[in-house]
Amino acid sequence: SLEIIPRDHHPISRQQVSRAALNVLYGLHKAGFEAFLVGGCLRDILSGREPKDFDVATNATPEQVNRLFKRSRIIGRRFQIVHVRFGREVIEVSTFRAMNTDDNPDKQQHHAHEETGLVLRDNTWGSIEEDALRRDFTINALYYNIADFSLHDFTGSMQDINDQVIHLIGDAQTRYREDPVRMLRAARFAAKLDFHIDPATADPIPELAELLLQVPAARLFDEVLKLFLSGHARASYEQLQQLNLFRFLFPETQQALEGEQGQIWEAMLLAAMDNTDRRLEADKPVTPAFIYAVLLWPVIQQRLGGYLSSGLPPAQALHKAATRALNQQIQHTAIPRRFSTVMREMWELQFRLDKRAGRRADALMEHPRFRAAYDFLLLREQAGEINPGLGDWWTRYQEEDETGRRDMITQLG
Ligand code: ATP
Ligand code: MG
Repeated sequence: SLEIIPRDHHPISRQQVSRAALNVLYGLHKAGFEAFLVGGCLRDILSGREPKDFDVATNATPEQVNRLFKRSRIIGRRFQIVHVRFGREVIEVSTFRAMNTDDNPDKQQHHAHEETGLVLRDNTWGSIEEDALRRDFTINALYYNIADFSLHDFTGSMQDINDQVIHLIGDAQTRYREDPVRMLRAARFAAKLDFHIDPATADPIPELAELLLQVPAARLFDEVLKLFLSGHARASYEQLQQLNLFRFLFPETQQALEGEQGQIWEAMLLAAMDNTDRRLEADKPVTPAFIYAVLLWPVIQQRLGGYLSSGLPPAQALHKAATRALNQQIQHTAIPRRFSTVMREMWELQFRLDKRAGRRADALMEHPRFRAAYDFLLLREQAGEINPGLGDWWTRYQEEDETGRRDMITQLG
């Protein structure tokens, strides 16, 4: 049931909306289409956060949107949306559609309206209400109408945003089975917004978590990045564990966490996540390679012992253990080559950071992964995986001038 909240009864104002988003909304409106801001941006504003980006929903077809804006292009084949660019900002424009239109070839026959220019029939794409009901959570299904600045609320979104509760739209089992990634999204929004997951939405997750095994690895990689590289990595990790999701993303890491050294590995993971969150807070760059290197390190350590005792030299043992760990992991969450290469280098450097005699320390510092490897070493010490000392030595070495450094090398003996 639709509730319309008039402009003077809600706090959304155009000042909180980017110029680019307003341009798109007004452009559509002037051309006679309906145009709404939708989803995450409204949720973020209403909960006191700055929106990351703005999404627009409209009854104009992708082709119509495309014709209206010069710097726009249609993205996706089965599930078309339009990206409209203004300067450095990209506004995502999607056409109202009903549940599963992307899976239903009949509903993709939307060419009829093209010639006639008629307003879309409901059964070609969908009504705004259908569009609201196919979204995942009530907090993500609010609409801001540019025609009169009112909010359109079909699912009790306002109430749930105010109550800070995450509520799946429709039957939870059904919605998770349709798209298991929604379980990860529930965890992510709980972590990001510090909202509570409603029991009806949370309770089915531990049982259904294994459905993640059927999701393409590339899509899960994208989700993992949003979970761990958006400034709420620790909270995400805690949600994932609580909801039994983590083991289906990182099965071998989970095994290590449940093993003898589990507490050390968990301490290291949490330290890495805190680190990442702090870096993002300070606007410093972060890379998936670092967090992934930490996530797979326990897996490597577990294999390494066996390879070493079978007589392989350390470098080869590490190489083998790393290859195995990566090959297992990419079946669950893809890891693009440019990241796995960096991860391998960080791991290899762990075995070289204690070899500092002569000019070796200076050569190590020239290595493009030195800084990451050094940070990694500090985490290992902090977590108690190895005795502290080497990390501190490198900290001092980097601070010393040339004479100080020579002294430090001499003192190595
Ligand atoms: P973020 O701040 O992470 O961008 P968001 O809510 O904008 O949050 P997006 O992933 O950008 O999330 O998706 C945009 C909107 O599309 C969501 O608000 C939601 O309404 C809808 N949506 C996204 N993914 C799904 C899904 N898997 N199932 C149903 N609806 C979805
Ligand atoms: Mg978004």
